[in-house]
Amino acid sequence: MCKVIAIVNQKGGVAKTTTTVNLGIGLVNEGKRVLLIDSDSQGSLSSCLGVAEPDELDVTLPTIMSKIMNDEEFDNTWGVLKHEEGISFLPCNIELSGLEVSMVSMMRREFILSEYVEKVRDLYDFILIDCNSSLGMMTMNALTTADSIIIPIQAAYLSVKGLQQLITTISKTKKYLNPDLGIEGILFTMMDSRTNYAREIKQLVENSYGKNVRVFDSVIPFSVRASETSAEGVSIFKHDPKGKVATAYKNLVKEVLNYE
Ligand code: ADP
Ligand code: MG
Repeated sequence: MCKVIAIVNQKGGVAKTTTTVNLGIGLVNEGKRVLLIDSDSQGSLSSCLGVAEPDELDVTLPTIMSKIMNDEEFDNTWGVLKHEEGISFLPCNIELSGLEVSMVSMMRREFILSEYVEKVRDLYDFILIDCNSSLGMMTMNALTTADSIIIPIQAAYLSVKGLQQLITTISKTKKYLNPDLGIEGILFTMMDSRTNYAREIKQLVENSYGKNVRVFDSVIPFSVRASETSAEGVSIFKHDPKGKVATAYKNLVKEVLNYE
């Protein structure tokens, strides 16, 4: 059975893309078949996986979505690229922004991505969707498609405020579009656990949401080694296998697997 997880937060720079890459490759290292979907028109996930110029690719998520919108057939591995660490990914590029505009007038516009995922889900154990930093049309498609959601957040006041808005959107999506949608968990990222402030915020989130929503025990520490991976085009397991961020993502993989 394939599980589809969207990595969502409307706030930028909270490590959505970094988490998608490292959770995904961590799952591959545990023998799982994994597809990552880049759903950001900036193509950051694609860059992090070594695509130098996402805008020059011929087949990407927007190409596939427009096929679906036009009722055209395509092969279920079309456009999917393979990374050296064994993960498959569907890249994205700037064409998505134009497509998002034309999606607005479509019938069942929130279900276009889910048509793609339904077509390919038998090929994988996990499909992770890297969302862009908004609650726009593409994120709504991801929320409609996913079985569950991981919310990466940074321990800062503003991101906690945004969390409330996100949880409201998730509840609405559940009510109107995807009744089976669950929250896999809230993940603290780029955490400097030496500061009391970060610890207090984590406590606050646990107190406010911990009863209904899991807060992952794994916390991703801040480390320059992690920020270097995007340019290297590899995961933290390859770039700094013995470092604290690799250990943290390995623990996250275990938590996600045990939750199945
Ligand atoms: P988002 O997808 O939410 O916008 P990114 O994954 O692109 O966030 O991360 C934002 C920036 O933070 C990137 O430059 C990334 O390399 C860096 N980063 C991610 N995780 C860490 C970490 N644990 N420690 C330090 N920097 C990190
Ligand atoms: Mg991103």
